[in-house]
Amino acid sequence: MTGKSRFYVTTAIPYVNAEPHLGHALELVQADVLARHRRLRGQGVRFLTGTDDNALKNVTAARAAGVTVAEFVGSNAARFYQLRRPLALSFDDFIKTSADPRHRPGVVRLWRQCADRGDFYRRSYQGRYCAGCEQFYAPEELAGGVCPEHGLVPEPVTEQNWFFRLSRYTGELLDALESGRVRIEPTTRRNEVLAFVRAGLRDFSVSRPAARAHGWGIPVPGDPDQIIYVWWDALANYVTSLGYGGPDEQPYQDWWVNSAERVHVVGKGITRFHAVYWLALLLAAGQPLPTAVYVHEYLSVDGAKLSKSAGNAVSPSELASRFGTDAVRWWLLRDVARLGDTDFTAERLVHRANSDLANGLGNLQQRTLTLVHKYRHGRIAPPAPASPAAPGSELSLACQALPHRIDQALARFDFRPATAAICSVVQAGNRFAETERPWELARRAERRDHAAAARLDEVLGVLTGACRTLATEAGPFLPGGSATLSEQLSPQHGAIAPPVPVFARQQPPADPLPLAPALGAGCRRDLGP
Ligand SMILES: [Zn+2]
Repeated sequence: MTGKSRFYVTTAIPYVNAEPHLGHALELVQADVLARHRRLRGQGVRFLTGTDDNALKNVTAARAAGVTVAEFVGSNAARFYQLRRPLALSFDDFIKTSADPRHRPGVVRLWRQCADRGDFYRRSYQGRYCAGCEQFYAPEELAGGVCPEHGLVPEPVTEQNWFFRLSRYTGELLDALESGRVRIEPTTRRNEVLAFVRAGLRDFSVSRPAARAHGWGIPVPGDPDQIIYVWWDALANYVTSLGYGGPDEQPYQDWWVNSAERVHVVGKGITRFHAVYWLALLLAAGQPLPTAVYVHEYLSVDGAKLSKSAGNAVSPSELASRFGTDAVRWWLLRDVARLGDTDFTAERLVHRANSDLANGLGNLQQRTLTLVHKYRHGRIAPPAPASPAAPGSELSLACQALPHRIDQALARFDFRPATAAICSVVQAGNRFAETERPWELARRAERRDHAAAARLDEVLGVLTGACRTLATEAGPFLPGGSATLSEQLSPQHGAIAPPVPVFARQQPPADPLPLAPALGAGCRRDLGP
């Protein structure tokens, strides 16, 4: 595997003070599609996710739950790991920042490298701290005196902190962002980041007194009275999971230093941490930057912001068990807007699953294989190279163009045009069947019309070829369904089995949606408070 063909993709690591909700599922599924798509194209892929255990709010939530912090983060982190099966996630690695032995040495090393550059100084600091965000706010950042993410009044805090000289890196950051060396998608988010950097960067606090953190977290090297700020600690996971600062740095060399692309998928609430602070930290440590940061939007449920306290935190596992993994993934990929928040309702999910999967992709294959079964004794035509002159050329051309259309959309991290491209080939397939009317060709062939028999073979060949292309290209989006579609197209002993529908028609639920049970206090910042 050469570096040119390696692709490294990460999600943000969520705080584990509450159950996973649909916003987490969105980010995980998006990153999973990118990983599966690159694997399908033959690239080496490493897909990382995990949990951010070292937040102060975990300490608070554990106390409220009456358990130790280690027990609390341990059991909650497991709930995030367990999304793997219901969401069909293909992550290669899962890091828990409090318990993973790879994490601390890398965080300490990054700290020391920045310290060696003279990028830290200690001073007394007075500010307003939102524990929900784990962030100090300047007065002008507070809308009406409250945190913009949580709507809560941040508490005044006066303490000694280590500060990072972010202001030093303004020029280098602008260069990295303006040149496109680090791509921020979508463009709206890139422009926001550029405006923020151009306005001038202020140094920021990167430690907390150990007493306020109740000893939870990683001590500042050489100053055990201070704990490294949880954001500094958390951002480092993207390289500590690769062995950075540890005994074996080969994965770091392979997947960070020498990979062709290093992509972070994050929610819009934490753009600044990834597109500014993380880059500055890497610049200070003399390490390569990520190549892209893709910023997704938030979800609401039935018109309300995703929030445990509002009682609308839909559980992704419950949704998958009710509607199926593919239906949940498809809705997240097909309906969630690139800009602006999207409202989830079960009716929308059901509508998408029925129109695109049951009546679309699934039905095209079902009717094709039914014809093959009925008129050709289940003998399916072998895959043939599509040619522009071939019968059904509109459909053949659409099939030929499909991989490229998906590649282009996913290169921009744009999931809706990618899934729409699949639907457009399904529609071309249905048009082709309606135009060619293979059932009529079959009736004529039975009356010894040899031209009709030959045309029927061609038409069924084109249709099964389209089904093959669709089954393959849908793989990253619908891993379960596409595997079943492919199996149906691979006959045992020369003939296919009578086809059965791959995607069931769904009914909207009569009873209310399953909600994620509440787990302790606090809320979650990067995927909607
Ligand atoms: Zn907040």
